[in-house]
Amino acid sequence: MSSVYLVGAGPGDPGLVTLRARELIARCDVLVYDRLVNPELRTWVKPGCELVYVGKDAHVHAIPQDQIEDLIVARAKAGKVVVRLKGGDPFIFGRGGEEAQRLARDGVAFEIVPGVTAALAAAAYAGIPLTHRDFASSLSFITGHEDPDKHEFRVDFKKFAKLGGTLCLYMAMGQLERIVGELRAGGLAADTPAAVVQWATTPQQRTLFTTLGQLLEESTRAGLGAPAVIVIGAAVKAAKGIGWFQARPLFGKRIVVPRAKEQAGETRRKFEELGAEVLELPLIEIHPDFDKEATDDVFAELATYEWAVFTSPNGARFFLEEVMRRCRDVRALGPVKFACLGPATAREVEKFHLEVALKPEVATADGLAEAIIAQGSLENLRVLVVTGNRNRDNLPRRLEADALAIVDCLQVYRTDLTDLSKDASVEIFRTQGADAIAFTSASTVESFVQQARHLALAPGARRPLACAIGPLTAAALREHKIPVDVEAPEHSLDGLTAAVRAKLAKKT
Ligand code: SAH
Repeated sequence: MSSVYLVGAGPGDPGLVTLRARELIARCDVLVYDRLVNPELRTWVKPGCELVYVGKDAHVHAIPQDQIEDLIVARAKAGKVVVRLKGGDPFIFGRGGEEAQRLARDGVAFEIVPGVTAALAAAAYAGIPLTHRDFASSLSFITGHEDPDKHEFRVDFKKFAKLGGTLCLYMAMGQLERIVGELRAGGLAADTPAAVVQWATTPQQRTLFTTLGQLLEESTRAGLGAPAVIVIGAAVKAAKGIGWFQARPLFGKRIVVPRAKEQAGETRRKFEELGAEVLELPLIEIHPDFDKEATDDVFAELATYEWAVFTSPNGARFFLEEVMRRCRDVRALGPVKFACLGPATAREVEKFHLEVALKPEVATADGLAEAIIAQGSLENLRVLVVTGNRNRDNLPRRLEADALAIVDCLQVYRTDLTDLSKDASVEIFRTQGADAIAFTSASTVESFVQQARHLALAPGARRPLACAIGPLTAAALREHKIPVDVEAPEHSLDGLTAAVRAKLAKKT
């Protein structure tokens, strides 16, 4: 088995990472990474994984190359599985070759996992076909990075001017004037189409279409800088009309998603599909929390309940995990029927191969109480309501008062406020602001308000619109004197994304 993996992290968009890379990141003991690696990839590691930053910028190597290699070799020899994660592809302007040679020399077993290199990614996300039957039949990847004190380039740009085809320049923004001069001197016409793609595949992507003659002036005026790929050649013309990435309706918009108990992932996906940058705020944390005595009582009589009622996915999951831990056999649940609030809660129960008898259309506590009562008399029957520490007690009260059931409530988890003082997304929110906040439940509003002191916007930060998924969420906002800018007419995630899109999308 190998102990070092030289892995390409792709250009930025986490969706462009290979399956192999993801699997290795999740498995490694040590992750050694560069500056241009998307921070999200680091969240894929297992607990206890050592993270080592060896980033460099254009001129200064933060950690000298031989020390990076020493570190990798030392960890590998200590029996650790090391992933050396490099932006783009490890063998394209990434010194992956040198690292592999060193590993081979030192007898360390290794593997190499390719990645999507910046030029390919920039071209795809800017809609530039790098080869095209009418315009370009060859492709060159060239580095523009040279010691600025040297007068000669290592790369002979004059030759590339004569070569034709599509030229992709990496690390060239700092040397643009000299490079354009050489290419022109080599005979490449001033009207040759050229493009600059900065921060390709990320929500910050910027693209400039110009000509070789105008390249320096226009990219300076636009304030473009590293990291960027420059594409030069006739094929750049063909990009007209096929730049899909920046054309998506919410591209350039930042949407804040307060992390709800369950839905944040889905909410994030829906907004990202529309091109938005999603900033998740981890306002709350959820921990299993069982009172031993109360749990013992419930478990002693588990099979005597008529209904078990779950009001949240976490409640369902923590409770059923406890059943498996204590009883090791689902049959311990006896004939109890399950009622679930909301489809995500039902899905958790179904994951345990248990049938959900009741999932009411109206996903509110009252809707659930009415639906259970409508199933038949509950008089003197036992009902177990599984909750967290923040649930309102409407539901048990109605089952007792209106239906004369004997209700036991069991709290199985606790919701705490997250310590936001050092959170990176909160810092981005505070200093830069956002275009909208998507509130997906009244409880996300409550957590947001409770965390308000960490979320105060700095002067000049973009002030976000407050967007509510439905009437209860909107009411919670108004209760806290937060004006509701968008209220989804259709009470669902799709309804919310559609309403935010209608409000924020570029008019075309
Ligand atoms: N091994 C990397 C290249 C590392 S050199 C790869 O295969 O992509 C660093 C250069 O890559 C940057 O100066 C820039 O030219 C380019 N680059 C990396 N990420 C980029 C991005 N998201 N958008 C545009 N250019 C990028």
